[in-house]
Amino acid sequence: MRFIDLRSDTVTKPSPEMREAMYRAEVGDDGYAEDPTVTRLQEIVAERVGMEASLLAPSGIMANMLALLGHCGRGGEVILGNRTDMYMWECGGYSVVGAIHPYPLPNNEDGTIDLEEIEAAIREEDMHFPRTQLICIENSHNECGGVPLTPEYTASVIALARRHNVPVHVDGARVFNSAVAQGIDVKALTRGADSLMFCLSKGLACPVGSMVCGSREFIAEAVRNRKMLGGQMRQAGFLAAAGIVAMEQMVDRLAEDHSNAKLLADMLSEVKEISLKPQPIRTNMVFFRLPWERISIEELEARLHAEGVGVLRMHEWLRAVTHYGIVEGDVKQAATIIRRVIDSI
Ligand SMILES: *Cc1c(COP(=O)(O)O)cnc(C)c1O
Repeated sequence: MRFIDLRSDTVTKPSPEMREAMYRAEVGDDGYAEDPTVTRLQEIVAERVGMEASLLAPSGIMANMLALLGHCGRGGEVILGNRTDMYMWECGGYSVVGAIHPYPLPNNEDGTIDLEEIEAAIREEDMHFPRTQLICIENSHNECGGVPLTPEYTASVIALARRHNVPVHVDGARVFNSAVAQGIDVKALTRGADSLMFCLSKGLACPVGSMVCGSREFIAEAVRNRKMLGGQMRQAGFLAAAGIVAMEQMVDRLAEDHSNAKLLADMLSEVKEISLKPQPIRTNMVFFRLPWERISIEELEARLHAEGVGVLRMHEWLRAVTHYGIVEGDVKQAATIIRRVIDSI
């Protein structure tokens, strides 16, 4: 029996078209900006997200780090959600490398941070305080269940930030999921932001890579910081070739992942005692939990794994993510297995 891996959309493997494009990619030394395929990807992406320039980075964490280093100086402060990837899951790298101080604010269940909270957190000039140098939002919001932030909310954060002369970075690891779920152009989620990061290596199914986007000046600094972090690559056109295919072929199909996630949630909702979030399912994630007195979360995760379904523990929830390579039949089978395992405990 095939293992149905719903732990993350990072487990996706490149499509046949990507493999073909990678095989045929024209490459050069990107350290000298001489890889034509990397250059083309960076142009395509900048155009697609409505920013002046973009840069290929080896990972989303590094792309986020390049944004933080670009916007903040030593001792500068970044306002961000307390359930964001940047605050929770990135080893505090910007503090280690950039001496940047985080100011975490509570994320609501819908992935937002209250505007009043953001405004109150922006520091006045005072010799005792760090200086507010950046506001970050995450879209879609992973820990809140893959919920998409709306263009209206994004615009209101940006307007508030403008009034205080503070830049805004969007951690859009899954920003295309958010755009597709809302039936809008991704530019509606980036307009007015100073920088954006998104991952090629998640639902877009590339083997490696993330993009950081912003002004030409900002990207020139990111090139320098990427070098400093050891993230400059050479014949990276082999990776960029997959990225170009992702931009052309893998965005619209995210809708299929979203309908598969809805199907999974519908099937799981028939299990007694199960709790599901978010309500409703909007993108490619379903979080579920039981009253953990009955079975520990670790044990349920392990039992499901042994029965052929991979899910991932995130705090008190188990997360299932639909993605390229998971079809409707897999989702039905996974739901059947999950229901059977839960019924047996
Ligand atoms: C995955 C993820 C990242 C980091 O990307 P990596 O490629 O794993 O380094 C950053 N932010 C969010 C919201 C993510 O989901």
